Amino acid sequence: MNLARRIYRLSPNQYSAETIAVTFAKTSRSPEPFDRIAAELDAEKSSKFSEKWIVGYGHSSVAEHAVLHLALENISRLAIETIEGNRLASYTEKSTRYQEWNPDAWVLPPEIEASRFAEKYRGLMRLLFQSYAEATEALRAWCEEVTERLPEESEKAWQNRARVKAVDVARFFLPAASMANVGVTINARALEYAIKKLLSSELEEDRQIGREVKTVATQELPTLVKYANPIESLAGIRACFRTEAARVAAEPEEGWCQLLGAEPDAEDQVLAAALLRFGERSYSECLAHVRSLEAGEKSALAEALFAQLSDFDVPLRELEYAHYDFDLVMDQGAYFEFKRHRMMTQTPQALTTRLGYAIPKAMSQAGVEGLYRQAMNEAARLYEELWQFHPEAASYVVPNGYNRRVLCRLNLRELFHFTRLRASENAHFSIRRIALRMAEQASRAHPLFCEKLSLPDGETAESLGEAYFTDVSAKPDCAG
Ligand SMILES: Cc1cc2nc3c(=O)[nH]c(=O)nc-3n(C[C@H](O)[C@H](O)[C@H](O)COP(=O)(O)OP(=O)(O)OC[C@H]3O[C@@H](n4cnc5c(N)ncnc54)[C@H](O)[C@@H]3O)c2cc1C
Repeated sequence: MNLARRIYRLSPNQYSAETIAVTFAKTSRSPEPFDRIAAELDAEKSSKFSEKWIVGYGHSSVAEHAVLHLALENISRLAIETIEGNRLASYTEKSTRYQEWNPDAWVLPPEIEASRFAEKYRGLMRLLFQSYAEATEALRAWCEEVTERLPEESEKAWQNRARVKAVDVARFFLPAASMANVGVTINARALEYAIKKLLSSELEEDRQIGREVKTVATQELPTLVKYANPIESLAGIRACFRTEAARVAAEPEEGWCQLLGAEPDAEDQVLAAALLRFGERSYSECLAHVRSLEAGEKSALAEALFAQLSDFDVPLRELEYAHYDFDLVMDQGAYFEFKRHRMMTQTPQALTTRLGYAIPKAMSQAGVEGLYRQAMNEAARLYEELWQFHPEAASYVVPNGYNRRVLCRLNLRELFHFTRLRASENAHFSIRRIALRMAEQASRAHPLFCEKLSLPDGETAESLGEAYFTDVSAKPDCAG
């Protein structure tokens, strides 16, 4: 037996994804080296093994070693939400910040195509995309007027900076039906669940995508996604909770960022967990010790956790013992970015026009606020009509400017990461405002740690609101 250390790749050019997964699975019982195990496998043997161990005996984690790269093109942003709702995968999608949309790049969902609303839907899409193009031009001209050219900046670079600013605002017109592309890297275990969720969706586009993804994945994973079928229990759960949810009484307006839960002594808990990690005492003993410390001593410990961190370092995992629950309302454009943060638990409500819409200040300053309001009103009118017919499909017509509610739970480590990315000056102004308000609220609960968040100097959620928005919850006129 060769006892020398060996580290090498099992290349997907040589072995199928399923064979690689089975090779790794077999090391559990076989003393043979991986390459020898792999050499003895063929598609049939791998499939038999997968069927018995992974599918039959439920050793499902083995399927995580089979990884696929899936390219999905020209699907609606609404369908992208269903796909990206799977946490254990990697995504890169077409950006509303760096690209402009083709006027025909929208999905006509099968439910609506077959209904009496098809023509109205097409009419609204034409209006939204024409308004988007018109507003982009007006905003571009206005942004060039108000964007000073930097010393030594080329004409092209300056024009590009102005263009990006314009597109950041014009994106508020784009509906959830807008087509986009997304690249997905996902393992077979996560993919099986993703397909199940797609097949269980209330939207036909999702179900079609689920079937196509299953067909494509089966070419590489003949066994591991074979049993990906709709989740039968979902229909009952939906029906029960929708009925009960309809009975929940409305309260007076509660604000767009509410910190619902943050344990008062979470900072002590984080410090206790760090003491446990580097010491030999139990958690209760460490916590009792932290509680006995003077404020200055705790502050010194907190300081030590952050003092040496560079911009590229990640704080210790023990920060995950502090967590926050937020009830947030943000525009759909911001939500589309927010949902990408997989380390949070997120529960979004359906996308509707009923929480009002945001009006970016630049829309008013560039002289296209009227155009925007008209588009938002038309979208709300059709949304309400469609809602009577098919509430889920109605979401396709809702533009990015409309507000969305999302409940989320995140830990302090993720709050550091989120605010570093999303409060920074190069992030979109909508999500910057959300990130800053979340940081402000968390800081009130946990000042010791939250003062270490990397936030931009001199800016607050309120100052961003004033600088970038005419209104953040304008009510649409549905009367027509
Ligand atoms: C300026 C900017 C421009 C962007 N442009 C685009 C764009 O054009 N298109 C686009 O699709 N997205 C874009 N994004 C989104 C970006 O790619 C991330 O998906 C998003 O910011 C979420 O960040 P995250 O993955 O670090 O966060 P989370 O998902 O919250 O993850 C937190 C941390 O956990 C770790 N982690 C989580 N999952 C994995 C994993 N599977 N493998 C390894 N580590 C993991 C990482 O350390 C990660 O930083 C942009 C973001 C920014 C800030």
